[in-house]
Amino acid sequence: MIPINALGRHVAPLQAELAAIAAEVVASGHYVLGPGVRAFEQAFAGWCGVAEAVGVANGTDALELALKAVGVGPGDRVALAPNAAMYGSSATLACAAEPLFVDVDVDAEGLMTLDTLRAAVEREGLPKAVIVTHLYGRLAAIEPIVAWAAAEGVAVVEDCAQAHGARRGGRRAGAFGDAAAFSFYPTKNLGALGDGGAVLTACPERAARLRQLRQYGWSAKYTNALPGGRNSRLDELQARFLLAMLPRLDGWNARRRAIARRYVEGIRHPQLRLPVLDDGEAHVAHLFVLRSARREALAAHLHAAGVQTDVHYPLPDHRQPCFGGRYDALLLPGAEREAREVLSLPCFPELADAEVEAVIAACNAFPEA
Ligand SMILES: *Cc1c(COP(=O)(O)O)cnc(C)c1O
Repeated sequence: MIPINALGRHVAPLQAELAAIAAEVVASGHYVLGPGVRAFEQAFAGWCGVAEAVGVANGTDALELALKAVGVGPGDRVALAPNAAMYGSSATLACAAEPLFVDVDVDAEGLMTLDTLRAAVEREGLPKAVIVTHLYGRLAAIEPIVAWAAAEGVAVVEDCAQAHGARRGGRRAGAFGDAAAFSFYPTKNLGALGDGGAVLTACPERAARLRQLRQYGWSAKYTNALPGGRNSRLDELQARFLLAMLPRLDGWNARRRAIARRYVEGIRHPQLRLPVLDDGEAHVAHLFVLRSARREALAAHLHAAGVQTDVHYPLPDHRQPCFGGRYDALLLPGAEREAREVLSLPCFPELADAEVEAVIAACNAFPEA
């Protein structure tokens, strides 16, 4: 079976280096928010071209704390696209705020655009903040959204959990909004050997607030000054692993992009719609997602041909059972169509050329109905 992901292959060449780092950390006496975390924060901020990075426990916490740092509180509304597995919605609910669901543009690879955002705002009024998700590794058309949001007094939080390093016009994901959330879950383009996350911001005061929010809202030890404070710290082991992996990220992203390009060249089938990849480095191919009205049949065909696939994501946020039917009347045709039609093919740096060709051949052999 050609796997959708193979973390063992990814980590194997790093094994000796990571084991040496682990031994150093074990001997160091620093395990949480120590010098390794500070070193990684500085390196990652520099790599992204943003002044400040604040390490946190995971990507969902990063979204929640980013929202709190831009002023989202109880009762506020946060605009977000409903096709990103509830991450933004969960973070919004953790702020006691409410999601304002924005449809996505199926002609823009399932991303929010300024047009879909404005349609939602006309329907429901202005939100306090908007989460722009660079889904599947593709930088959203975020510049017009940022300009609109600045004029309307709406804060912009980027969700960069799938887009480490994506860049346009010399700016990387995370350098566009008021704050940006990253995840270092093991399968991400930059992944730890456990959970991890970071919030990036160009604003030193906001970074200082984030450093308080991640540690109980403390202004000083045992003085809980900020409402909404949490325990969401990054540990030394993960930070040191991430610091060692960061210099390889551009190479990993280049290999992901090359695989995606080969898929787009090689897959020829009238019932499969392929993503458009004419974006230079604005796409870091976190996932290779195609669309088909016959998605289930295609997945079964590929499985029989030895190709593992996955669906990112099958149920949009506004249809999730946790809302108890609250959004049943809300129709978001773009997001609902995406949920029915998207299918992800294997796309990770260690995928071999022969495996890429086998996936292409299997797709092209999908019998037409
Ligand atoms: C993975 C992911 C997150 C959440 O990250 P965790 O570290 O798993 O909490 C948030 N947003 C997007 C788009 C993601 O892919």
